[in-house]
Amino acid sequence: MGKRIFRNVVFTAILTVLLTAALIVLAMYDAHEDSVRQELMQEAGYIIEAMEISPDPNEYLKSLSTNNRITLVAGDGTVIFDNAADFAGMENHALRPEIVKALIEGQGESTRPSDTMALTTLYYAERMDNGQVLRIANTRLSVAGAFVGVLPLIIGMLLGVVLLSLLIAKRAARRIVAPINMLNLDAPLENDAYDELAPLLSRMEKQHGEIREHVKALETARSELSAIMDNMREGMILLDAKEHILSMNQSAADIFDVAASSHIGENLLSISRDAKIYDLVQQALKGDAGNLTTQHNDCHYQIFVSPVMCNAQIRGAVLLILDVTQRFKAEESRREFTANVSHELKTPLTAISGFAEIIRDGIARPEDIQHFAGMILKESARLITLVNDILELSQLDEKHDFGQMESVDLRSLLQGLMDDFALAAKQKNLIITLLGEKVHVSGYPVMLREMFFNLIDNAVKYTPEGGSITMHIQAHGDGVCFVISDTGIGIAQEHHAHVFERFYRVDKSHSRQTGGTGLGLAIVKHIALIHHAGLSLESSPGKGTAITIEFMKESA
Ligand code: ADP
Repeated sequence: MGKRIFRNVVFTAILTVLLTAALIVLAMYDAHEDSVRQELMQEAGYIIEAMEISPDPNEYLKSLSTNNRITLVAGDGTVIFDNAADFAGMENHALRPEIVKALIEGQGESTRPSDTMALTTLYYAERMDNGQVLRIANTRLSVAGAFVGVLPLIIGMLLGVVLLSLLIAKRAARRIVAPINMLNLDAPLENDAYDELAPLLSRMEKQHGEIREHVKALETARSELSAIMDNMREGMILLDAKEHILSMNQSAADIFDVAASSHIGENLLSISRDAKIYDLVQQALKGDAGNLTTQHNDCHYQIFVSPVMCNAQIRGAVLLILDVTQRFKAEESRREFTANVSHELKTPLTAISGFAEIIRDGIARPEDIQHFAGMILKESARLITLVNDILELSQLDEKHDFGQMESVDLRSLLQGLMDDFALAAKQKNLIITLLGEKVHVSGYPVMLREMFFNLIDNAVKYTPEGGSITMHIQAHGDGVCFVISDTGIGIAQEHHAHVFERFYRVDKSHSRQTGGTGLGLAIVKHIALIHHAGLSLESSPGKGTAITIEFMKESA
């Protein structure tokens, strides 16, 4: 500000000084020229008068003492006398403008610059009665010369002006800026500044209001967005066009094991070096959306990457990360199940077709035919059981709505099952005991029957002759506890976690001999889950097995 004021003041002052100096020089020069002219005219008059009365005009001229140059020219332009030069060799003056004028009009004058331009000569010529022309000339400084003459003075003045301008500019700048520096910009209208600032202050006040509104709207939009983003289960990352992270929600931070705010402004590579994700982002930044499935920390994620467009330009990319681990695992176990089912079905079918082939080709001895037919029957029965179990499990898998639960009398249900197993138990000399009060649980009777059937069936199958099986129902504050324990072969610790998996058997040949499918406990687990019942197993080889099911309290 000070510099600008200084520049303007200096410029104006210099211009003023120069113009004033020029005008003064010109005016003075003009006045001086007039007086010189008068002087020349007067002097010419005196000389002519003196010459006319003088007996020897030439001698008179020679004797004249003057600062001016005197030249006497004949009517044909020949120089007769000159007090400043050797007139004998001088050229003819007939065409000199002042001589021409004097010869025609009686008087003439002209001004001619000297060779250096710093000097100028004023010529005045007057025709005498004898036809000769007397010319008198005065040489003095030209306008430029006069200006150069006063130049040191002008330069001195200019220096003074510059110094003065500097002082004035400093003071003016201080006086202008001081009230501006003291302005309270938070409340522009409350300032008591000079009037010229009033429009600026009211404009600022208006803009303050507009900015406040904008900031408020932006903050609302931002907090809405971050509330949405932070409550999303899906991970979300917003990148700019240079792959720098603009925002990242908590879910995304959890997925990549970083703190949500720590990587803002950093490149995407700072949280993931997965080349596939990087390529997808590059693709999105060229305008193509895409997705991929990737694995990170034992979890599976599907990542969608889309370009972010603004005014038809790609400004960045957005990553949406979905945890698809459950879907992935479900698909994996379905694939595994299908492979197991095919294998399990193939085994009895191969046996059946083998025995049938032997009988058809007449290879079997007549006394063995009955045995082979029995085997076919046994394998068929196994096949039927297997198909039934598979169907049962598929139904449990697929069905989500099983209708309204009923109040089921557990003791009556178990009593009925005990009757069904009475023959099998008798054949193995097993004692089955049911203990506990009559209690009710909420559930699906058919499913519960299936569940208890499988548990009793396993206990009967895996308990050697002479053993015992005990079922105990116990109602307590929070629900009903059912325990079935046997004195059977037991299960080693390492198998405990797996026996509830589909097609898992501790001893394959034993299971097959007893007609097992490997699906019984998987069905039990599924049914317990549907009934929100807890399931636990205690078992040790050679001692026996106890399986507990904890039902929740029957809802009123
Ligand atoms: P399976 O049809 O083979 O019995 P399950 O799913 O019912 O299939 O049981 C899985 C495996 O758990 C069985 O193969 C068996 O090895 C073991 N098992 C289940 N119940 C008992 C039990 N009461 N005593 C000992 N082992 C058992």
